[in-house]
Amino acid sequence: MKILVINAGSSSLKYQLIDMDQSEVLAKGNCERIGLDGKITHQANGEKMELETALPTHADAIKMVLKYLTDEKWGVITDVSEISAVGHRVVNGAEIFVEATLMDEEKINTLDGLTEFAPLHNPPAVVGLRACMEVMGKDVPQVTVYDTAFHQDMPATSAVYPIPYEYYEKYGIRRYGAHGTSHGYVAGECAKLLGKKPEELNIVTCHLGNGSSITAVKGGKCLDTSMGFTPLAGVMMGTRCGDIDPAVAMYIMNKEGLTPDQMSDVMNKKSGVFGVSGVSSDFRDLDAGAEAGNERCRLALDMFAYQVTKYIGAYAAAMGGVDAIVFTAGIGENNPMMRTAIAEPLAFLGAKIDEEKNQMRGKAMAISTEDSTVKICVIPTNEELAIAQQTLAVISR
Ligand code: AMP
Repeated sequence: MKILVINAGSSSLKYQLIDMDQSEVLAKGNCERIGLDGKITHQANGEKMELETALPTHADAIKMVLKYLTDEKWGVITDVSEISAVGHRVVNGAEIFVEATLMDEEKINTLDGLTEFAPLHNPPAVVGLRACMEVMGKDVPQVTVYDTAFHQDMPATSAVYPIPYEYYEKYGIRRYGAHGTSHGYVAGECAKLLGKKPEELNIVTCHLGNGSSITAVKGGKCLDTSMGFTPLAGVMMGTRCGDIDPAVAMYIMNKEGLTPDQMSDVMNKKSGVFGVSGVSSDFRDLDAGAEAGNERCRLALDMFAYQVTKYIGAYAAAMGGVDAIVFTAGIGENNPMMRTAIAEPLAFLGAKIDEEKNQMRGKAMAISTEDSTVKICVIPTNEELAIAQQTLAVISR
């Protein structure tokens, strides 16, 4: 069975065709600059091609994707009918879509009404969905998979904000979290790696990339997560500030005469390790800067590690102990120095990193010492496969 996974952005559309019998990616690519000049990158059969081509709308992009998937040279299927279903990544389903959902016109309209929960990300997902329905017809199941779904189990003590309760009731303002598909996937893979059932484990999953979030996974379910109403909360990130005293925002707005949108820009795009270092949001640049003696790069890296350690400690306490710590995403999977900086202070919990294993890359493995009572694992995330698995589960019901 083959499932097409779509991750639609405002002017881009990433795709993967996954063979579910082998969990194998048959083809993948990206349509970029939709609505502008248009470009498609497509990878299949061990080769990669790039083509600049007009892509006026997302529907045109989908048509192009299907054309390449069935192309004589670049194709991996002979007919579109071989695609059993399409899984769409959606960032926020609010409290309406709490699990992966088979979509119809009415549900798409409902999702369309949730724009304000993820203004940059939800609208393109709706556009992508409508485009697939238009191009592929109504018989191909279109399933939405939500980044917020894994966090829906979070108890009210984690989800509700200490502001007047009426804002939760009126506007749905609460913690929703993000990266849920990734946290759920790596927690499940961690349990497999350790030969345990998810219900038996307390895991802290650290999704550390350009955006970073930490989740306390107790017995296979989300107990708490660091991102909040939006993905601005939690640990500092590439360009996002994470948790700060909310009064700082008002103070800067008054001093600098900034509008709410301008302040949002400062906190989302000019803060985090970029804001502190003044150099870059990419941890490779910061490592190089710190190595060359740039103290603000050093500070940014030390702050990031400190904040992640602090969250892990807090979640260990919240869960009443921790069996495993999982590192995933760009930094979590590829930056041994950062893993050491985060994990070393956790020796008091019984978490000891094995420096030799810590240098390994590219596969799921434990990187803790034999006598470490808390397992430290690196698990490459695979959000597309997780979306395809959830899509398959929905259409198999
Ligand atoms: P992501 O958002 O998951 O793509 O992660 C982006 C971050 O991961 C950047 O700060 C990079 O420094 C880091 N990263 C990604 N790939 C590598 C790599 N191969 N080696 C070192 N760092 C990497």
